[in-house]
Amino acid sequence: MSATPDTAVRTYIEQHSAAFLDDLAAWLRIPSVSAQPEHDGDVRLSAEWLTAKLKETGFPTAEIWPTDGAPAVFAEWPSTDPDAPTVLVYGHHDVQPAAREDGWHTDPFEPVVKDGRMYARGAADDKGQVFFHTLGVRAHLAVTGRTAPAVNLKLLVEGEEESGSPHFRALVEQHRDRLTADAVIVSDTGMWSETTPTVCTGMRGLADCEIALYGPDQDIHSGSFGGAVPNPATVAARLVAGLHDEDEHVAIPGFYDGIVELTDAERALLAELPFDEAEWLRTAKSYATLGEAGHSTLERIWARPTAEVNGIGGGYQGPGGKTIIPSSAQLKLSFRLVAGQDPDRVEEAVRDWVATRIPAGIRHEITFGAATRPCLTPLDHPALQAVARSMGRAFDGRKIRFTREGGSGPAADLQDVLGAPVLFLGISVPSDGWHAPNEKVELDLLLKGVETTAYLWGDLADALR
Ligand SMILES: [Zn+2]
Repeated sequence: MSATPDTAVRTYIEQHSAAFLDDLAAWLRIPSVSAQPEHDGDVRLSAEWLTAKLKETGFPTAEIWPTDGAPAVFAEWPSTDPDAPTVLVYGHHDVQPAAREDGWHTDPFEPVVKDGRMYARGAADDKGQVFFHTLGVRAHLAVTGRTAPAVNLKLLVEGEEESGSPHFRALVEQHRDRLTADAVIVSDTGMWSETTPTVCTGMRGLADCEIALYGPDQDIHSGSFGGAVPNPATVAARLVAGLHDEDEHVAIPGFYDGIVELTDAERALLAELPFDEAEWLRTAKSYATLGEAGHSTLERIWARPTAEVNGIGGGYQGPGGKTIIPSSAQLKLSFRLVAGQDPDRVEEAVRDWVATRIPAGIRHEITFGAATRPCLTPLDHPALQAVARSMGRAFDGRKIRFTREGGSGPAADLQDVLGAPVLFLGISVPSDGWHAPNEKVELDLLLKGVETTAYLWGDLADALR
């Protein structure tokens, strides 16, 4: 196998790119905004449009999967090779809200091609990245002479990712038998930059909680009673102050138990990325970095767990003073988790830690939301190597580097329920403006996505067999 691009693949893509972009534009015209009830019909229309397009692409099965919310689309194209591995592609067909008055230069649901870019809501997140799989599989078949892909190819395209995927876990559990796969490819991420193609290897998980602290039955006079009863706002502040030690390590006992540490090789690879900390600080709208001692900024945001205070309240907040001991105080905390951390065990550790720090006379309630697990695929996993190899061919033999994602997503549910490694294949770049006005996709990168998947099914079939 050579690591060079295939001219037959490139010619095929060139010949079909105009029709491909027209089709993508047609899909982008459907305002499938899952957060806004007035667009429920459009989300359904988007699912129907995609189902029809996948059938036209050649998928023998393409169907709508209803949920208690917005519909998902499932498609399946079995290989003719009896021992072919199975790959599941994940993406979503819903989009973030968008309106001209948010600062769009053109109608967000009327795609415009300008300077090699297509501008429209969903161009990069995520319709463009779902759609490159359609031409990619056609190119794969055309140049290999196959009648079906080299892998058993499945697609699951969710309809409410932008609304927090409230029914995704249940959907995956309900259809577990039809979704089984040897690997999951998530196409809902990006790469480092136009000139530094990268593959993401994992995402952090997330756990969050609210803590309510109750003291006196009502706000009481700080002169008559102050100094002699516990103050719930002071207790809240002490909890916050105790979350981290002086090295910015999370100070909750057991919090780091079991985490997968970065290897020296991974740290060296991360350090090779052209990271400009001053520029990054500007995007963070912040004035200095601060984090766990002994780790770089990229390590801190990608590979280390965190504890953050998202909100703190209690007592009098109005103008002037009010000399009281407040009756209650509240905290909202969240924890980003990394591979090896179990959200249930983190919850237990937080509960235990809080309980030991509450003085007599303060009652507390602690409530956790639904957690998202972290996911991580090791660098030497053959499927990850296959993704990097296919991408390298599409990017003219350039070295593919590895990143991680600091955020959290439904990909972890696929890893969790299906027990398959999750790989991230995205061609979006930071300037694409996800969730922002004037979202766009770079057309040359979009076609690199097509080309990567044209190689990927063959490369993955070899890697996973
Ligand atoms: Zn997305």
